[in-house]
Amino acid sequence: MTLGTWTDLIYLLAATGFILALKGLSNPKGARVGNLVGAAAATVAIAFTFTNHAVRAHTLNLVLMLVAMVIGAAIAVPAARLVKMTAMPQMVAIFNGVGGGAAALVSIVVFLIEAPGSPAVYRIAEVLFGVLVGCVSFSGSAIAFAKLQELMTGRPITYPGQQAINALVGLAILGLAVATLVTGNTALLVVLAVLSLVLGVIFVLPIGGADVPVLISLLNSFTGLAVAASGFTLNSNLLIIAGTLVGASGILLTRMMSQAMGRSLPNILFSAFGSVVTAAGGADGTGADARPVRSGAPEDIGVLLAYARKVVIVPGYGLAVAQAQHTARELADALGERGVEVFYAIHPVAGRMPGHMNVLLAEANVPYDQLKEMDEANPEMSTADVALVVGANDTVNPAAKNSPGSPIYGMPIVNADQAEHVIFLKRSMRPGFAGIDNELLYDPKTTLLFGDAKDTLTKLVAAVNAS
Ligand code: NDP
Repeated sequence: MTLGTWTDLIYLLAATGFILALKGLSNPKGARVGNLVGAAAATVAIAFTFTNHAVRAHTLNLVLMLVAMVIGAAIAVPAARLVKMTAMPQMVAIFNGVGGGAAALVSIVVFLIEAPGSPAVYRIAEVLFGVLVGCVSFSGSAIAFAKLQELMTGRPITYPGQQAINALVGLAILGLAVATLVTGNTALLVVLAVLSLVLGVIFVLPIGGADVPVLISLLNSFTGLAVAASGFTLNSNLLIIAGTLVGASGILLTRMMSQAMGRSLPNILFSAFGSVVTAAGGADGTGADARPVRSGAPEDIGVLLAYARKVVIVPGYGLAVAQAQHTARELADALGERGVEVFYAIHPVAGRMPGHMNVLLAEANVPYDQLKEMDEANPEMSTADVALVVGANDTVNPAAKNSPGSPIYGMPIVNADQAEHVIFLKRSMRPGFAGIDNELLYDPKTTLLFGDAKDTLTKLVAAVNAS
């Protein structure tokens, strides 16, 4: 067998690895292994790229590639290790953006090499697609990063004539694409690239709040498509497969996230919805309208939990902020030892990224059979003695079911309100991500235990053990 055949075979193996990785990543049990399989497949694919004839023939390219890899790894490895779980969405945004930018650059370089020889129209079309989608993904992801990192306002940014300006830029890009196809002119391609970067920015500006992570998932899918386009340009089957997998899984994830938020994708992208609505609760946590709430002592709540039959823990973003996943498991263990049935009700958009709660609880070695997805948990909520809401808010807010005017109306929620008692662990009366008040906090069956979730859970563990 020739080296080329070997390389093709290895690439096929790597592509199979990518597919198996996605399969593993689709459930918490298989996620770790899936991640490892994907990383191994990528490593093998990168290693065999160096056997490529074109790469070996140019020593300078080889050296440049190695230098770029070392610089990239020196930035990415510490960033990935040090990033807080709550800052994951913006890290995904920036990593995704550079992927799109790289795909666009590859397409431009191929065009520069081939342009003097009057390339076929289909070759130019591949390049145009890669440049357009890659540039939109790059600049769009950069703005999404800036929004999530609070380098700029996270709210939707709107201005008069916005739709018309966006449409004009879109039309200009279309015109440039046709002109480049006909003439094969490099200058036109460069202008198209610049306008595509502008389009990425103005496309993302009016999207804000909770919609930004959905947008990142969509941009992720764009990057996949740009990579697939550069795969066609470079005649690389592996890039075509890998890019298409990213494109398809990104669009599926986007769809699942919008469904979990009870919204349609066009509504997320074009309605400038997602702005943070003025909160009913005061920022000082007292509640602007100072309605009475019932707060309890850890000792009393500990007794309630210890003598319950069934306790459902509903984790949310606050659990991640407090890094309270281990303490939550300790509490579940302590209750389990006393014969209390305990499980976790996981809302698909609890936290700040898809699967956020699954990742955290898996890290704390919570048994998988105690993790129930919202749809599985909800039919059991009315038989629970206690719903223990740990740093969750929007995902248990009954306004999603009962208040047609609410920004979260239509979002499915964990029905914590159906449990006999509801305990909220949070620090204040501040609202959740959507910035809206939660009636359940004022319900007579609700008791609040104020404080950082890790501290309050620690006190509850002690109280349960003392009961
Ligand atoms: P929320 O953001 O609705 O509420 C979190 C609550 O946690 C707050 O009320 C806050 O109250 C409390 N909290 C914060 N820090 C702590 C702490 N250290 N200890 C105890 N409590 C704390 O969280 P949910 O998980 O219920 O909902 C997620 C929201 O994020 C939804 O609106 C969803 O649409 C959105 N979203 C989800 C994404 C995803 O993919 N998962 C992506 C983007 C947005 P206090 O300050 O008083 O403590």
